[in-house]
Amino acid sequence: MNFAEIKALDEAYVLQTYGRNQVAIDHGRGATLWDTEGKAYIDFTSGIGVCSLGYANEAWAKAIYDQAMKVGHISNLFYTEPYARLASKLAPAAGMAAVFFGNSGAEANEGMIKTARKYSYDKYGQGRSAIITLRNSFHGRTITTLKATGQDHFHDFFFPFTEGFRYAEANSMESLEAQAGDDVCAVMLELIQGEGGVNPLERDYVQAVAELCAQRDWLLLVDEVQTGVGRTGTLFAYQQFGVKPDVVSFAKGIAGGLPFGGFMTNEKCRRVLGSGDHGSTFGGNPMAAAAGNVVLDTMTPAFLEQVAEKGRRLREGIAALKSPYVSGIRGMGLMIGVGVQGITHKELRDRLMEAGLLCLTAGKDTLRLLPPLVITREELDRGLEIMARVMGA
Ligand SMILES: *Cc1c(COP(=O)(O)O)cnc(C)c1O
Repeated sequence: MNFAEIKALDEAYVLQTYGRNQVAIDHGRGATLWDTEGKAYIDFTSGIGVCSLGYANEAWAKAIYDQAMKVGHISNLFYTEPYARLASKLAPAAGMAAVFFGNSGAEANEGMIKTARKYSYDKYGQGRSAIITLRNSFHGRTITTLKATGQDHFHDFFFPFTEGFRYAEANSMESLEAQAGDDVCAVMLELIQGEGGVNPLERDYVQAVAELCAQRDWLLLVDEVQTGVGRTGTLFAYQQFGVKPDVVSFAKGIAGGLPFGGFMTNEKCRRVLGSGDHGSTFGGNPMAAAAGNVVLDTMTPAFLEQVAEKGRRLREGIAALKSPYVSGIRGMGLMIGVGVQGITHKELRDRLMEAGLLCLTAGKDTLRLLPPLVITREELDRGLEIMARVMGA
């Protein structure tokens, strides 16, 4: 099918909930994609931070195929090797105690929220269930995670939302203290607000939040759905902030393109959710877990150092453009936000796409770059050349 045929089917038969780019992707290799009309693009999206190993990765595809030919799914009524192996590598590498596997970021955050509320219920009884999240955050699209998201425009239409969320300004302990109270059980945050505009939190602030949480026996919940699994140049971003979460969620990059996610708890919280308290039919699916094992085996210290190095190269390359459209560059590793001025971020994204470079947007005025973590120097430099043509001084 060509682009027009696919688009016609989409319009006729698919709920129109997405503002899609006017391109149908056909296939890819590494960090390069081709559309149905045969045009090539350098990819700085990874399918929104998912395809950490790029496209058509042989080891990844083979692991999925091999597992599919053994057993593709069997449910959590049985043990299987792939999820057990993945958990045994993921938890120690993250400095956490135990893992729950689900399928998506929102679902992972739901589990994290349930853990915080039950931890508090078990210890203090009812009435201590409020969770403080940050303004401009994003935590997902379920009724609960929409309410956890600290952006008012996500709180329309779908009433009644889950109660018990309050919002504090990022990087302000004063604002956090103003939301404190006897009813609070946790603070939940992204260390780099992704959808909100690629805004890294200040390290001192994050450490002060962690201290306050420890003092009040609030759980520190870190949403690493976007920042996790190597994206920022360490396995998890909190490893660069000098804090240890009580619970951390992950999803996007974990299985390199299969729907997979989950959360990990520390030792203190590992028994909060017991038999029958939580579950997921597809969670820990053997094919997705087999893919996750390939992703995790790739994340060696040397590989993560390369992610950090490629991120520096990309940020420096963008700064060197001296583009009149760039108001600032933020981010860590291969999670980069470029502040856009003099043109809308969507217009700039469209011009870059036209020129052969796929980028994302975030917040009100940010171009968001999440290239596959395996992107080569050559592909990075080709992306920068396209940026120079479209955005250069
Ligand atoms: C994408 C994202 C989510 C939601 O993940 P889904 O898989 O779309 O449910 C939650 N939190 C953060 C920080 C995200 O970036």
